[in-house]
Amino acid sequence: MTDFSTLAVHGGYNANRNDNAVSVPIYASAAFDLENAARGRDLAAGEISGFEYSRVANPTVDALERRLAALEGGVGAVAVSSGMAAVSYALMCAGEGGGRIIAPTNLYGASVDALGDFLPQFGIHADFVKDINDLHEIESLIGPATRAIFAETVANPNTAITDIRPLADLAHRHGLALILDNTVPTPYLLRPIEFGADIVVHSTTKGITGHGNAIGGVIVDAGRFDWANGRFLQFTRPEQVIADIDGNRRSFSGAFGSEAFIRRIRVKYLRTFGAVQSPFNAYLQLIGLETLPQRVARQVETATAIAGHLEHTPHVVSVNYSGLPDSPYHALAGKYFPRGVGQILSFKVEGGADRVRRILDGVKLFSYVPNIGDARSLIVDPANITHREVPESYRKAAGVSDDLIRLSIGLEDAGDLMADLDRAIAGAYGE
Ligand SMILES: *Cc1c(COP(=O)(O)O)cnc(C)c1O
Repeated sequence: MTDFSTLAVHGGYNANRNDNAVSVPIYASAAFDLENAARGRDLAAGEISGFEYSRVANPTVDALERRLAALEGGVGAVAVSSGMAAVSYALMCAGEGGGRIIAPTNLYGASVDALGDFLPQFGIHADFVKDINDLHEIESLIGPATRAIFAETVANPNTAITDIRPLADLAHRHGLALILDNTVPTPYLLRPIEFGADIVVHSTTKGITGHGNAIGGVIVDAGRFDWANGRFLQFTRPEQVIADIDGNRRSFSGAFGSEAFIRRIRVKYLRTFGAVQSPFNAYLQLIGLETLPQRVARQVETATAIAGHLEHTPHVVSVNYSGLPDSPYHALAGKYFPRGVGQILSFKVEGGADRVRRILDGVKLFSYVPNIGDARSLIVDPANITHREVPESYRKAAGVSDDLIRLSIGLEDAGDLMADLDRAIAGAYGE
């Protein structure tokens, strides 16, 4: 395979087919000329590929999709308007028509709310587990309606790591798809498809864009799951929307085989629910991707140094960072993350919520922001901000207590960041 950093700059784009523009142009066009009646008919029937209308596909967005598919090692990708659109579409596409999805309780807050409270309104239900690496419990929950297992490769804020390989084996033994949210590590640190994931989703808002300037999401398909295995009737039912050129209805599985999932995402979900990514946001994300390896490598180095520093800082009770040698996830970090686990870490301080507030107000370099993966370093109190919508028992199980602070490490100097934290922490205790 071409090296990751080369694909990050060149993947999915051909300058010679774009008037030799070396930077991907922003195609600010709602629709595209069908040229003539015969071509229009072929395009509409999917006999040839090309652009028609930007709700379904756009050349700038297409370049981003191809680049992300290449970086994750998938056969195809669909970019959407946010990470939550990617999560929702992927879960609905798998669970459509009364399915159940097994997931851990330490998911991103809006994903917990989606699975626990909102998707049930659409007939899709969740079976939650406390620990996604407890294969015994997961297997006991698998029933005839189960469709997929959903988890985050690295959870936030405690950086718990999912042991992907045995989870994928378990899922596949039962004909279930493994859907992983790979937002926190980004494909630079982890490519879940290499370990058996079937579908990978991202909030590209985070490390992929990398500069906190655009919301976006993507769904990537590994292209090897058998959607016609009997558990997913939505893929084997003939549908008008993908009728062939003679008007015969086809099923997604019949028409697209192993690419049925990503085709269904585009043709049904993007076309119907319409959470399209704008060409301008796709452009910002393509620019961000060019420096993904360099940014993330630097952020991991700084995050590791800061995690080690915090372990020896007065008033810090504990540090969650799976990259630390004494982390309970250290062995899994070694198995899956040779380049490090990422730029997120969290720590608990003495004295609870009041001291947390003082530290948040005391930092000068860190921005108080509910985001991650930015070029700027960010600080937040998860219990009050990012995990508000998570039921308290789940929050506690994920270690999100009132005395917890989360950091997302940016590109500033490590010494400056440590000095800022030291000063804010000392100040919070009147020192
Ligand atoms: C931020 C985030 C999301 C949601 O992404 P948006 O782009 O904010 O919609 C989903 N999953 C994880 C792990 C995230 O960090």
